[in-house]
Amino acid sequence: PDDAAGATGLDAPRSTAALDDTALVQLRGVRKRFGNLEVLKGIDMDVRHGEVTCLLGPSGSGKSTLLRCINHLETINGGRIVVDGDLVGYRERHGELHELHPRDVAKQRRKIGMVFQRFNLFPHKTALENIMEAPIGVARRPRGEVRSEALALLEQVGLQEWANHYPAQLSGGQQQRVAIARALAMKPKIMLFDEPTSALDPELVGDVLAVMRDLARNGTTMVVVTHEIGFARSAADTVVFMDEGVVEESGSPEQVFDEPRSERTRAFLRSVL
Ligand code: ADP
Ligand code: MG
Repeated sequence: PDDAAGATGLDAPRSTAALDDTALVQLRGVRKRFGNLEVLKGIDMDVRHGEVTCLLGPSGSGKSTLLRCINHLETINGGRIVVDGDLVGYRERHGELHELHPRDVAKQRRKIGMVFQRFNLFPHKTALENIMEAPIGVARRPRGEVRSEALALLEQVGLQEWANHYPAQLSGGQQQRVAIARALAMKPKIMLFDEPTSALDPELVGDVLAVMRDLARNGTTMVVVTHEIGFARSAADTVVFMDEGVVEESGSPEQVFDEPRSERTRAFLRSVL
């Protein structure tokens, strides 16, 4: 039996019918509130396979909340989110929605890698051990195989020499690159980044962005919240500008940066450029 928690009765995630299944991530009418504060007011967004979406917007506009909803860290109050064909957090049966069993939530979450502003590495594990932790502890894969993949990932992020160092012995930029490698170790279908460079000293930002550019070039599907306009311009397929819980504008980097339609987008760009 499926141990479903039962019909949800929430006003929300409607059927997955009529969704576009060429998109890896789809949001339709996503709403989220904290108490009386409505933080996401009906977000529509599509992220296709292999594409990079950069999410921009003022502080407090709901960007982190949006990523957290995609990654099951928040439950939504309306609309629906589909990742790789799965309705996030719910299961549909006989036309009714049921909350997913935690086990199935965990399974869905493995498809999603997330990198936060703060690196959150395990302080008592080396760089290599940090990367090996989830594939062994969560996915229960064989140590030898996981170890060689982890070493390859360290090389990919330019840290092969640092495998046996502890987080405290690494710069912020190096720690963030380990955090990226750690997320990649679970072979996610999509990578979410929440301002991955905004806690770094300026001279360390470039190395992290270079790793992210490589990922983008190699066809990793990514959603990146960032204020790095240069990165967004060069790496994004789509730029989404959010303000006060709505998508104010979205389009190609050229369109959004060079010919913004919305006055709010223009004002925001003036403030960050
Ligand atoms: P951004 O990442 O764009 O800066 P956030 O998604 O972090 O915005 O926050 C959007 C709004 O939601 C802010 O007003 C914030 O204070 C509020 N908020 C975020 N998380 C919570 C929470 N757990 N409880 C209450 N309010 C929250
Ligand atoms: Mg944020």
